[in-house]
Amino acid sequence: MSKKSVLVYGRLTDDQLATLARDFDVTHFSGTDLANDPAFHKALQGAHGLVGASLAITPDLLDMAPRLEAIASVSVGVDNYPVEELTRRGILLCNTPDVLTETTADTGFLLIMATARRAVELAEFIKRGDWEAGIGEAQFGSDVHGKTLGMVGFGRIGAAIARRGALGFGMKILYSNASPKPELEAELGAERRELDALLAEADFVCVTVPLTAATEKLIGAREFSLMKPSGIFVNIARGKVVDEPALIAALETGEIKAAGLDVFEQEPLPSESPLPHMKNVVALPHIGSATTETRNAMAQRAVDNITLALKGQRPINLVNADTWSKP
Ligand code: NAP
Repeated sequence: MSKKSVLVYGRLTDDQLATLARDFDVTHFSGTDLANDPAFHKALQGAHGLVGASLAITPDLLDMAPRLEAIASVSVGVDNYPVEELTRRGILLCNTPDVLTETTADTGFLLIMATARRAVELAEFIKRGDWEAGIGEAQFGSDVHGKTLGMVGFGRIGAAIARRGALGFGMKILYSNASPKPELEAELGAERRELDALLAEADFVCVTVPLTAATEKLIGAREFSLMKPSGIFVNIARGKVVDEPALIAALETGEIKAAGLDVFEQEPLPSESPLPHMKNVVALPHIGSATTETRNAMAQRAVDNITLALKGQRPINLVNADTWSKP
């Protein structure tokens, strides 16, 4: 029997590729514009599985892949996939939760610290040779410890960031989330608030909701106007959860003090974006989970998921559970 075909368009280690190749006929793509790559389109015709990330899988691409059985995304976020359409077609969608939670939370806390203490701006100050005397008020930052951290989204990553804040920095934790989280309230003393109240009360507002129709532009001009002028905004979720022009305006007018951003409406960030040039912004190129250990673990989970799915076994992380009818 011929092997099933798997197209890989994300980074796997050589060992992981070799493991996959034992069971499947593997083709590795590394182009940057796969959605318009004729070779990728041709390969889709015979593909049973896809493994990758950062490629928006559209119904048009799915039409080119009549044999597709499963997709293993190397990410926890699934906003690049038409989930209902995949379910309708009976295509399994797998993701990589848990293995990236702590690393992404580290990045979230890095943004909290770096914005509050102006670490990037002041590192640039030294590089320019401007450190000529003792630093003064013009270089002072804000404390993090003892402040109020407002989590917008209180799932795996939100809780892991809050844990760092509460247990490491003595922060008071507020959260706004679709469902209440009594266990986290007990563990961290966290208090649930309506979003508007959280925005008004928090010193740091940190977004960790997934991008869905309900969360697109969740934070816009009205929401920034509710924040304290001393408030710091951090987005470690997805750029489109925020109305980016409204964020830029709030930062320019001083409606909020600073922002730490790992994600943007358009990625890579267009060269004309003012955000990386603003003194009160720490901008990172979507590195939330980008450590060697965690990216390897995510890739391994994707390999495990696609292998199980294409062998007819339930994958470890199945997003569209409705596709699974086997006992
Ligand atoms: P998760 O455990 O599913 O947490 C998401 C939380 O958001 C859940 O608690 C959920 O509420 C809540 N939520 C969903 N829709 C909501 C809404 N409309 N209003 C209020 N709350 C809502 O996911 P996670 O593992 O923490 O990951 C969260 C997101 O982080 C991912 O989807 C991804 O986009 C992003 N992420 C970014 C990076 C990066 O590199 N920057 C890395 C990893 C993940 P319930 O608990 O009630 O369902």
